[in-house]
Amino acid sequence: MALTIGVDIGGTKVAAGVVDEDGRIVEHLLRPTPATSPEQVAETIAEAVRELSKGREIEAVGLGAAGFVDETRSVVRFAPNLAWREEPLQKKVSDLVGLPVVVENDANAMAWGEAKFGAGRGESHLVCVTVGTGIGGGVVLDGALYRGRWGMGAELGHMQVVPEGRLCGCGNLGCWEQYASGNALVAEARAIAEADPARAAVLLKISGGTPEHIEGHEVTEAAKQGDPAALAAFSAMAEWLAQGLCDLAAVLDPGCFVLGGGVSRAADLWIDQVREAFARNLTGRGHRPLADIRLAELGASAGLVGAADLARRR
Ligand SMILES: [Zn+2]
Repeated sequence: MALTIGVDIGGTKVAAGVVDEDGRIVEHLLRPTPATSPEQVAETIAEAVRELSKGREIEAVGLGAAGFVDETRSVVRFAPNLAWREEPLQKKVSDLVGLPVVVENDANAMAWGEAKFGAGRGESHLVCVTVGTGIGGGVVLDGALYRGRWGMGAELGHMQVVPEGRLCGCGNLGCWEQYASGNALVAEARAIAEADPARAAVLLKISGGTPEHIEGHEVTEAAKQGDPAALAAFSAMAEWLAQGLCDLAAVLDPGCFVLGGGVSRAADLWIDQVREAFARNLTGRGHRPLADIRLAELGASAGLVGAADLARRR
């Protein structure tokens, strides 16, 4: 059976694995990302590939990179959390390991992993939304990953949902990820606790008493204990999340949405409301099938598995 290697390169760690044709990880390893030097990042990837290749026939390598990847899938134009600027990653790693290499945006690789082997199996049209500190995403249309003209498509978190809204890390105002991400959840909880401490009694007790020190896992904990402020923060996040899904459905009409990322670990606190608000707000509701809203199944290995499979289809 032909094997490929998938490598997921994030801001803090590099996860690499040997993957078979059925999306099974045969062996994998983790390394810290050397964030300062592109040369060291390439060398870390190459070392991981060499180690995983020992005693095996490897066909190709797929890299999922946290950054803007060009349409030829070879150059990382820019990475917010790494030192990559116009980085020829494909050539650099290919020269080091002597194998064919494909570079893909990490959220795209994750979407492909879920579409092929995870929650989106069998769906030809799907949108994967990763809700973590921000919002990432990937779009599969007619069974193929949709990248856009210049490889910059599917930056779902930066749709503007509120004109003149909250400042986003990208420099614009009112981006979706400022309202429907883990960071947005925390910001909302802090704001409620600040304005109405009595409503956030449990949350403030858990987090040590100061609204500005409230963290994401504490909002989850407080919500599970019924804290009204924490529940309101989850509810606000769910409404915004559903609104964004409605907009995406208006444009793309996918068969399903796959929701992943850190916030999905607390999905029992918000998934029902997202489904309900999606059905309530979707344009054309009542006269069209509702896209299924599912939770991701592959967890942290989706990107690695997706990148490995994309390497097979170079
Ligand atoms: Zn933005």
